[in-house]
Amino acid sequence: MKTIPFFDLKQQNQSLKPELDAVWARIVDSREFILGKELDLFEKEFAKFSGTSFAVGVSSGLDALVLSLRALDLEKGSQVIVPANSFIATALAVSMAGLEPVFCDVDPKTLLMNAENLKKTITARTRAVIPVHLYGQVAEMGPISDLAKVHKIQIIEDACQAHGAHAEGRRAGSFGVMGCFSFYPSKNLGAFGDGGMITLSDEALYQKLRILRNYGSAVKYQHEVIGANMRLDTLQAAVLNVKLRYLTDWNGKRNKLAAIYDQNFLNKPGLSILPQRAGSYNVYHLYILQVQNRDLLKTRLEERGIQTGIHYPVPIHLQKAYSFMGYKEGSFPVTEKASKELLSLPMYPEMSAEDAVFVAQTVLDLL
Ligand SMILES: *Cc1c(COP(=O)(O)O)cnc(C)c1O
Repeated sequence: MKTIPFFDLKQQNQSLKPELDAVWARIVDSREFILGKELDLFEKEFAKFSGTSFAVGVSSGLDALVLSLRALDLEKGSQVIVPANSFIATALAVSMAGLEPVFCDVDPKTLLMNAENLKKTITARTRAVIPVHLYGQVAEMGPISDLAKVHKIQIIEDACQAHGAHAEGRRAGSFGVMGCFSFYPSKNLGAFGDGGMITLSDEALYQKLRILRNYGSAVKYQHEVIGANMRLDTLQAAVLNVKLRYLTDWNGKRNKLAAIYDQNFLNKPGLSILPQRAGSYNVYHLYILQVQNRDLLKTRLEERGIQTGIHYPVPIHLQKAYSFMGYKEGSFPVTEKASKELLSLPMYPEMSAEDAVFVAQTVLDLL
């Protein structure tokens, strides 16, 4: 039986092997493993790609969020609002920065943060908000930004699933004061290990972030602030700079596959799909289906060789790690329903159109 993986880098790595081998040889030769030219170059390219003035390479998506929050120097006791429907890293970053995460439910149509829910969650202690461009779709940044402005709240974008996504003519990572990206291997732009990036256009914050990620130091052995070791490895930066040239093409391929899924699923009973927000370009980090009998469908698909994912089976506010906050089942109904009904279908640029048709038809057969 043929198996269709949920995600697979085999073909991508094979086709890039000569270029990546050259990168490896170049770095070994230069012996520049920490910071340096290759990282500077990738930061410039990624900033250009994201439509920001600067970018700062860091050790992971989580660390990008932590450093962004730390750079804001928010007073102790500040609250930061995060959507309950996200990967736990969004909330962990707030906790790790010594601040208080406050969750809010998401829009029932897009499953992303919206201004309406955000408004209800803002308190006198709210200092920042982290909209998440989950699945590859940009959240409604217009209304969120307007609201943030009124309440003097800073916006940090979690764009860890949205490299290259855009809306209203602007790229993910260019709406907030800072945008955070992950280069975890399975993201739309993935390293050969962990990595992350902060995009921004404020020069003072840029200089601060470069110091914060590097032991609080701009000049060796002179430490201005309590910094961290959260740099992007130079080898990873060089690998990512090669891959960045293909990202637009890869996102286009994801869109073609998503269109095949959409065509098959449109107006079919027993399932729903996420609408593409008008005026926006989704980069389909994940292709999401919503079905009643999710776990059964997943098992049946597995039996037919089709691997799927669940993003995410337990909402952040119901995780044991956050049980001390006292949220209960029922706190955020939209997120909780999503956690029981969402299924992520196979999606990666090298997947064939035939495979997408086969997956879609099998799903429809099983329903
Ligand atoms: C992957 C991801 C992160 C964390 O990135 P890491 O590089 O794994 O630390 C944060 N937020 C979201 C939405 C993600 O998908």
